[in-house]
Amino acid sequence: MSINYGRFPIAMVRGEGATLWDAEGKAYIDLFAGFGGPLLGHCHPELVDAVTEQARKLWFVGNLLHTEPQTRLAERIASTGFDGRSFFCHAGADANEAAIKLARLHGRARPGEKGPRYKVISTLRSFHGRTFGAMAATGQERVWQGFEPTLPGFVHVPYGDVDAVAAAIDDETAAVLAEPIQGESGVIVPPDDYWPGLRALCDRHELLLIADEVWTGCGRTGRWFGHQHWNIEPDILTLAKGVGGGLAVGVMCARPAVAELFDYRKHGAVAHATTLGGNAIAMAAAARLFEVIERDRLVDRAAALGAKVMQRLRGFAASHPAVREVRGKGLFIGIELDLAAVGGGFENGRQIVERCLDRGVVINAAGTDVLRLAPPLVIDEAELDRGLEVVESVIAGA
Ligand code: PLP
Repeated sequence: MSINYGRFPIAMVRGEGATLWDAEGKAYIDLFAGFGGPLLGHCHPELVDAVTEQARKLWFVGNLLHTEPQTRLAERIASTGFDGRSFFCHAGADANEAAIKLARLHGRARPGEKGPRYKVISTLRSFHGRTFGAMAATGQERVWQGFEPTLPGFVHVPYGDVDAVAAAIDDETAAVLAEPIQGESGVIVPPDDYWPGLRALCDRHELLLIADEVWTGCGRTGRWFGHQHWNIEPDILTLAKGVGGGLAVGVMCARPAVAELFDYRKHGAVAHATTLGGNAIAMAAAARLFEVIERDRLVDRAAALGAKVMQRLRGFAASHPAVREVRGKGLFIGIELDLAAVGGGFENGRQIVERCLDRGVVINAAGTDVLRLAPPLVIDEAELDRGLEVVESVIAGA
């Protein structure tokens, strides 16, 4: 296998809800849900049913024909507060590539004095994926170092700062791209005036506002989509991770007027495509995931449970100076540490993650000093508490 990942020497063989078992039979409480993929936990019985039922019926026919699961998922997404047209692909990077291409068509349809507008303003410390467009959009040098020259046309400004975006707009700008809450850089929640400010700016300058909801979509933060915390609507949202419940699904969903730019009749050729995007098995799982989230009120559950976790961890932080800040929304939580004050002589967050794994809890570290929690939305409260006890005891050096 490729050695691109810094894997821990543990092989997982089974999962159920928020519990995982390794090859030796040791159980783990999963407080990270595979980078947000298994949003409904591992092997949710209804997703298993959806996949197996679909596997017996139809897998794939190509995107020149319709299939029912694809239509059902598109309708589900459009009825959960963002009325757009969905393009289906396989990953977050993939969805962002589609959004960037749509932004270029938008800029071409509204040229500036120098010609087609093509620039995308994105944010420092953002993460949008590893393909060339998404990588260039990503505001972290370590992601694109070694792969230069990167795709031109991206400008990075500080996150949470509307004035910085305003100052970066020029005659060639086509779009603004940001995460509702920055994920990979450590769960950074922007100020409340950020998203409304971006919306107003984009309206004023006829720019597309793209919300990368790859982490924050599908209820994770206690709203269907992260941008809904600030009562605005983007022009495009991108989804991946949780939307497939652990299967490879990416979605680029655009307001109908914007989605028209991809209309093959108007474009004169196919503007964008991917062969296996929207395959019936992945779509059946994702559509059922939306149905379960809605029926079981898991968006509200994420909000309520997240508030409890946040309160608990902030209480813990009050008596433990090793915790600098606890932040996030819903079940998307970052714990920023002062590593020097953490007992146990840890040099980085990864070592803390390793200690938690030893004690049977899966968490994640973003950068060197932020621990990230993103448990499945269905996690049992007692199990969550047991997992948090372990995380707290490791931070306390016990
Ligand atoms: N966008 C955001 C906000 C992400 O956090 C990630 C991955 O972590 C991506 C895009 C890329 O998604 P994928 O790894 O599915 O390509």
